[in-house]
Order: sequence, then structure tokens, then C-alpha cells
Amino acid sequence: DLAHGRILYLEDVSVSFDGFQAINGLSLDIAPGELRCIIGPNGAGKTTMMDIITGKTRPDAGTVFFGSTIDLLRHTEAQIAQLGIGRKFQKPTVFEQLTVFENLELALGTGKGVRASMFFRLDSVQADRVAEVLRTIHLAGSERRLAGTLSHGQKQWLEIGMLLMQEPRLLLLDEPVAGMTDEETARTAELFLSLKGRHSLVVVEHDMPFVRSICETVTVLCDGRVLAQGTLDQVQNDERVIEVYLGR
Ligand code: ADP
Repeated sequence: DLAHGRILYLEDVSVSFDGFQAINGLSLDIAPGELRCIIGPNGAGKTTMMDIITGKTRPDAGTVFFGSTIDLLRHTEAQIAQLGIGRKFQKPTVFEQLTVFENLELALGTGKGVRASMFFRLDSVQADRVAEVLRTIHLAGSERRLAGTLSHGQKQWLEIGMLLMQEPRLLLLDEPVAGMTDEETARTAELFLSLKGRHSLVVVEHDMPFVRSICETVTVLCDGRVLAQGTLDQVQNDERVIEVYLGR
């Protein structure tokens, strides 16, 4: 039972592109309900790691498990999304011409196609779910607004809300606070802390004050593997980490 007590487990994962080793013996453990931050210089392999977890990129070697029993390397990208792994890319991709409510409603109907979901009515459990997600993403009271009129930060929260409609066990987020105001960044920290426990989160982020406000454990990637791991203070004082950040 390799992955006992873990929601996500990578061991000795490697992948190369045209002979370039982008991921090189990467091992990583995420506990259920954990909020983990991943940092590292450009080219460290952070995006490629996310691509491997979501099935977008197949590693050449290694083990990738979701929970203790699900071998993600035996699943397609679409199946992995269905298993309860949600991914958010850096840019918000909400439906600007639809309301906040309709965006969340659509996220429930995933797989039915846009048109079908427009005509299906929410049952009371689904309606409660929408209301709960609206509160979580700080958009209660704004459900009738067109998504296109939201601020950048609010669009990011709405997209997180769309992922939450699927009740994912694991959320992967790429630079969620990039471009946000300080106020939005602080409210995003609140939001992530409220998700922790019910969901596991893996957050790639460059904003160190934000990382400090949300994460107990920070993993530093470099050259496709883990260079250091610990509290933000521990990794920021690690000689090897200082060297890769200053030396490049
Ligand atoms: P990060 O997200 O940490 O900046 P990436 O995962 O994007 O790093 O990239 C890691 C390395 O792998 C980089 O040197 C990048 O150029 C290379 N790489 C990533 N994807 C590909 C690809 N599809 N083809 C070739 N090289 C790639």
C-alpha cells in the first residue's frame, strides 16, 4: 500500500522532451486536506509536474497515485478530471457573457454540453451547493452579475467556484494571485484556508507573502526534482535554495 494516508503520491517520476530532462526523479507526497505550496525558478518543472498529475503529459518513468489505490498513469486526462482532480490555469476562463450563477450552473452540467446545461433545472441539493460555493468564493449577492463585469480577482474566484461545483478532492492551482490587488490576494488566502481540510490543494505561486500566509509546508522544485522542503523560513534559509534563486 504505497500511498497509505496520502491523497497524492509521486515517486521517482521522470520525463524528457527531445532529450531534455524536464522532470528528473521527482517524488512528492500530499496528505489529505493539506494545502501545499510549490515554488521554484522558471524552468524548474512546476508546470510539467501539474501536466503529469492531470494526465496531460505521460512520464517516461515513475509512479503517480491518487489516494492509495488509483494509479493515475492508467487513466486518461478526462478520466482524471472525473476522479476529482480539478486544475486551474493562471488565466481566468469564465464565460463573460453569462452571469456568475450561470457559470456555476454550467460547471455542474459539465459533460452535458453548454446548451443542455442551460435548460436543466437545479434540484435543491444543487441549489444549496451553488449558494454554498457563492459564499465560499466571496460572491454571494453577485450571482446575477455578468461574469465579464467582475474584477480580475473575482473572475479567478469564480473559476475556483466552478471547480468546486464538481466537489474535487484535489485542486491544482497555477499562480492564483498573479495580477490581484493586495486586498484580493488577502481574500484569496482566506478562501484557500477555508478550502483546506475538505479539499487538498497544490498551489504553484511566486508571491512569497501569499505563500507565507497560507502554507505550512513549501516544496522547492529545481531541475525537475525536489531541492528542499519545509516551512517557508526553512527553505528560504537553505543555501541550495538561495543559490538557485540568486544564481539564475
Ligand atoms: P516551470 O513551470 O517551473 O517554469 P516547466 O515545467 O514549464 O517549468 O518547464 C520545465 C522545463 O521543461 C523547461 O526548461 C521547459 O523549457 C521544458 N519543457 C516543458 N514542456 C516542454 C515541451 N513540451 N517540449 C520541450 N520542452 C519542454
